[in-house]
Amino acid sequence: MREHCGVIGILSLDGHNVSSMLLTGLEALQHRGQESWGIAVGRHSPYRKMGLVSQGLEEDYGEISKLAGNVGIGHVRYSTTARSNLKNAHPLEIGGSGGFSIAHNGTVDREPLIRDLKQGGWLPPMGMTDTEMMGLGLYQTVRKQKDWREAFERFNPKINGSYAIVILTTKGELIAARDERGFRPLCLGWHEETSSYIIASESCALDAVGARLIRDVQPGELIKVDRNGLQEQLFSVKEKHAICPFEYIYFAHPSSYIEGVNVYSARKNIGRLLAKKYPLVGDVVVPVPDSARPAAVGYSEESGIPFEEGLMKDRYRRKGSWRSFIEPEKREEVIFNINSIRRVIEGKEVILVDDSIVRGTSSKIIVNKKLKNTKKVSMLVAFPPITYPCYVGIDFPTQEELLAYRVCRTTQNLAEVNQKVAREIGVSFLGYNDVDGLSIGIGIPKDQLCLSCTMGDYCCLRYKPEVRTREEMKS
Ligand code: SF4
Repeated sequence: MREHCGVIGILSLDGHNVSSMLLTGLEALQHRGQESWGIAVGRHSPYRKMGLVSQGLEEDYGEISKLAGNVGIGHVRYSTTARSNLKNAHPLEIGGSGGFSIAHNGTVDREPLIRDLKQGGWLPPMGMTDTEMMGLGLYQTVRKQKDWREAFERFNPKINGSYAIVILTTKGELIAARDERGFRPLCLGWHEETSSYIIASESCALDAVGARLIRDVQPGELIKVDRNGLQEQLFSVKEKHAICPFEYIYFAHPSSYIEGVNVYSARKNIGRLLAKKYPLVGDVVVPVPDSARPAAVGYSEESGIPFEEGLMKDRYRRKGSWRSFIEPEKREEVIFNINSIRRVIEGKEVILVDDSIVRGTSSKIIVNKKLKNTKKVSMLVAFPPITYPCYVGIDFPTQEELLAYRVCRTTQNLAEVNQKVAREIGVSFLGYNDVDGLSIGIGIPKDQLCLSCTMGDYCCLRYKPEVRTREEMKS
């Protein structure tokens, strides 16, 4: 299973029931995954449900309210390759009694894990997900080592990919770990009223429960919380990290802080840099809702061209609040729920700002259907051209799906890419950000960012995973 999701784990040292905080935290992480969710609390078996957390609470409140304990983990899921069904929802139980429940955000290559399990004389059944394989490998290792840090130190070299995980053991311990490159975010917080340590994918989950952010979990760090308190240990150190910039541009919540950088500020900075790089003439700056809004504000402030909400998502319709990238099969349906504000755009020269272009489907619909009565549309894109697949957790796994690759292959000539993609989408001008602008805008050096999908350099992985089609990956 290769996923991009949200995780949370809470342990109250005072013995408070953490269920409601887990649920509140998961709702705050809902933007990271809307297909299924689950929690494992105390000694209860994991409760898992398809759909949104709020829907599940409405339908099953009686059952959910029986889940009580001073420690628990939770997960919201957005599947990228394994099937979206209840069986694959997290937390997953590993190892039966004496084992643990695990929730995973990231993508782990299954092939080395299969080889490892086979070497141990065990053939993983068809359809076993990467999280289950990783969990089983960890379970076997920790049973031998009797110590979580040592188990991670030993098992980590067999893991090719990204992971930010939380684990609930049957002894009532909360374990959290982040891969040594730090692809996916993970942070540590403290909730004063209940004396709880909280680990979460993003700090917006801490805000939601009234906890304070202590710090990011470091790449290669293991955190263990039990009734005696917190233990922080490194199991692997790599000088070069590979923080995913797509988190800042699209995926994470604007209020979150990742590596000390506020996501909203990063997006706005990038808008300002785009205004310097591409000083266009226009009547209004319009964002593609919702994640491009801060970049559009930044562009508007720097250029002096008024910011206007020319496109708005209808949040009251079924798919209005769903995110188009997360719902690839229903992308057109999502985009059709964006309304144009005609008074803002009609007859105007519009500077359209978007967070990224992956497949180009939604950009074309917006330009051709939602902005058709404008005088002219120019487009700016916060993320550089995406021409290579992501193997570490974002759902653009096949190169042939990527618009920039389809029209330009892997050329690094930005002017050429701008021109060809502009023609394909149907705008007068298109200007992509470049990797320098991305790094400066976020405020993290290039050598600490993963740039694989735009540069094609996969050195942040142990080795480049096997390229497969979307259908092969779903099987
Ligand atoms: S390949 Fe792209 S989307 Fe995937 S982790 Fe790296 S930067 Fe993020």
